Amino acid sequence: MSYQSINPYNGKLSKKFKELTDAQLEKALKTAAAAFEIWRQKTFAERVVVVAKAAELMHAQVDEFARPVTLEMGKLFAQAKGEVVLSADIIAYYAKNAECFLAPQRLQPGSGEAEIQSSPFGVLFGVEPWNFPYYQLARFAAPNLMAGNVVMVKHAGCVPQCALAFEKLWRDAGAPAGLYTNLFISYEQVNKVIDDPRIKGVALTGSVEAGRVVAGRAGQNLKKSTMELGGSDAFIVLEDADLEKTVEWAVWAKMNNTGQCCVAGKRFIVVEALADQFLAKFQAVLEALRPGDPMDPATTLGPLSTEAALTTLLGQVKRAVAKGAVAVTGGKRIDRPGAFIQPTILTNIKPANPAYREEFFGPVALFFRVKNEDEAVTLANDSEFGLGGAVFTRDIDRGKRVAARVDTGMMFVNHPTWTSPELPFGGIKNSGYGRELASLGIQEFVNKKLVRVSAIDAAA
Ligand code: NAP
Repeated sequence: MSYQSINPYNGKLSKKFKELTDAQLEKALKTAAAAFEIWRQKTFAERVVVVAKAAELMHAQVDEFARPVTLEMGKLFAQAKGEVVLSADIIAYYAKNAECFLAPQRLQPGSGEAEIQSSPFGVLFGVEPWNFPYYQLARFAAPNLMAGNVVMVKHAGCVPQCALAFEKLWRDAGAPAGLYTNLFISYEQVNKVIDDPRIKGVALTGSVEAGRVVAGRAGQNLKKSTMELGGSDAFIVLEDADLEKTVEWAVWAKMNNTGQCCVAGKRFIVVEALADQFLAKFQAVLEALRPGDPMDPATTLGPLSTEAALTTLLGQVKRAVAKGAVAVTGGKRIDRPGAFIQPTILTNIKPANPAYREEFFGPVALFFRVKNEDEAVTLANDSEFGLGGAVFTRDIDRGKRVAARVDTGMMFVNHPTWTSPELPFGGIKNSGYGRELASLGIQEFVNKKLVRVSAIDAAA
């Protein structure tokens, strides 16, 4: 494993970074533990000074932060800028709201007083993915730093310059040494960190495979963890949907971040009455996308994050087709340098086809035709994943009814699943457990401590 910046648009390596030695890792853990002893004593107002400053700096340098995102993982530059703004918004949101979210909660015992107080766990360890190189870090760092915790992060190997830019952000914002630490470490060292008694909680965003390893290790150590894992979200289109607008959202749901979103529309489940029209329009828009340099505003189709991601996705498509799926469009590598794949739609995917259950992480849409709403819900729920999902209908009450029947952590009506600071994010089943963002996200790694006051001569 290594930490290196390779531009997926042209395959050029720009920088390589060394992994930490065990001695360097030990020093970082020691510094973080010392930082916690100071940071935990700070008032919310004192923490706000640093956290709000970080948000302000990020808002002020959108292009500078966005550039390494595009150059390391190929996100279209306009989308990279959007991610920077969103990340800064999340940091600002927690600076503003943390104190209120963590205020003591008064209880109503039969006699005397009682309240629940929230106190920080300590040093937390996050393992994070490349697909939103800042947003994922902001989701983890901002609430936990405001709660009084200290964070250490192992970021994905392909986005080291983003990892360093985010660490520098906290230094520039005036964070004490060890408050936020980036760790370029091996998988073996990840295990060591999880085992270390100074680490009090573990968060991972990534694949199911990585989740099993990291959650397993945290479990052996009886440490609390949160897991934000993969998904195969249903995008359900009912017969009374507004077709034109639904297709626009379907393209967005599939193509945002070149399909590399945990909550991308992955299974397009369309009721028979609209299926042919939907498919024709969806296909036409996908075929019109223009591959090119993701820094160029004229480009509408960027590369995948890495050559390895492309190889995996092409392999999945090939296997799906070998097992009977039909690629009505796409399915091939684009004949040009860089990790480009044609936007792809697969139909005729039967339950025995491995594609029926897999997550496709890229611009590959699985298309299913169903008779009615009931069949749509049954198909949506026939998945090991349970992250997000969307339903399109002109009847909002009907949309809410369908949303209630789909077994996921998030359901959106007339909009693809998406994120903002005040909405909780997370899944069920193999999509993981725990929540990030909103008021829920800041509660995961705090001790909910009962403090009870009784009259000394009260009955036992
Ligand atoms: P990944 O391979 O699981 O990597 C995620 C992180 O885990 C990286 O930092 C990676 O390090 C590390 N990692 C992987 N295997 C590990 C192991 N055995 N021990 C220790 N660390 C390990 O996932 P990805 O391909 O980067 O990201 C895509 C996946 O993340 C998709 O499944 C997507 O749906 C999911 N995701 C979920 C959410 C959510 O909120 N639910 C959000 C975004 C993405 P290296 O890079 O060094 O290998």
